[in-house]
Amino acid sequence: MIKTRSIVLHRYPYSDSSWIVKALTEECGIVSFIVKGGKKKESPFKGALDPLALAEVVFKHNPNTDLQFIKEATLLRWHETMRGDLLKLSHAQVMAEMLLRYAPQGVPLDEEFPRLEAALQELDDKEADGAAFARWLLSTCEMWGYHLDIGTCGRCESKLMEPAADFSPESGSFLCKNCLGMAEPRARAETLEGFWALHKNLPIQDAQYTENALISYLRTHIGFLKEIHSLKWLQETRKLCSPQKT
Ligand SMILES: [Zn+2]
Repeated sequence: MIKTRSIVLHRYPYSDSSWIVKALTEECGIVSFIVKGGKKKESPFKGALDPLALAEVVFKHNPNTDLQFIKEATLLRWHETMRGDLLKLSHAQVMAEMLLRYAPQGVPLDEEFPRLEAALQELDDKEADGAAFARWLLSTCEMWGYHLDIGTCGRCESKLMEPAADFSPESGSFLCKNCLGMAEPRARAETLEGFWALHKNLPIQDAQYTENALISYLRTHIGFLKEIHSLKWLQETRKLCSPQKT
């Protein structure tokens, strides 16, 4: 029997009454569970196996099958505030889908769990600064071996004392003002200020530009061959949620 905390990444119907739940667990990485009777109103699991819920689950690990039977699931945190905010919810959906598609399955993921847990907790916090998704993307670059050196010019290697003058998602390097010279920067000022804020742990104004730069950096390096469907939804939600600019 394994008892571990878990975060549901994806859930889909399996039959009239059952679900298949793919969850990131603290102990065993990504595990697929079959939840018999999970769709019934009187399901003993309540919200514990809802997508993006944090729960404690108990299951018997059967090495001969990819689908594990879940015995118990106790809801620890449903992330109610996050669910009530379309933009935060779509950030969480992208994180879950990226992990599901790009993290290896069937092996423990020691870093992924605490980072996702922290990001969801932050998204669920009304007082948080709105940079949770950008921070998660940056830490995912680190976690998967694509370090970004925000504080150093990639060409002359001098330490940056202000936001970089440019960023290239292809090379993942930043340029100082001197090295950029008269050239037109490709990155937007908002993107570069956002990176700087991440570096200095300051609040970000327009986090979406930095989020996009991090996504396109990851896309270049992991090779996002498979489409991340929730990214489309994120774009739509951003349009819906952005204040009308005059
Ligand atoms: Zn330089």
